[in-house]
Amino acid sequence: MVRVTIDRPGCTSCEQCWTICPEFFEQNPDDTLSQVKDEYRLNESQSEGKAPESLADCVWEAAENCPVAVISVEE
Ligand code: SF4
Repeated sequence: MVRVTIDRPGCTSCEQCWTICPEFFEQNPDDTLSQVKDEYRLNESQSEGKAPESLADCVWEAAENCPVAVISVEE
């Protein structure tokens, strides 16, 4: 499992994370910002999640490609 946090207020809706890793990230239809998909949320938070090992690589890649570096990943 890897723990993921999105600092949502800093997101610019650039589409990178949900394009690279659509299994884990998605666009919130109301505020247009990135959020953790429902099934991976921690504490029902849009900003915090736990990714299984099978999604670790794509979550890391999404974080590395976020142009404003608002996605944090911890092993
Ligand atoms: S990659 Fe970063 S800026 Fe782009 S949509 Fe995802 S969180 Fe937002």
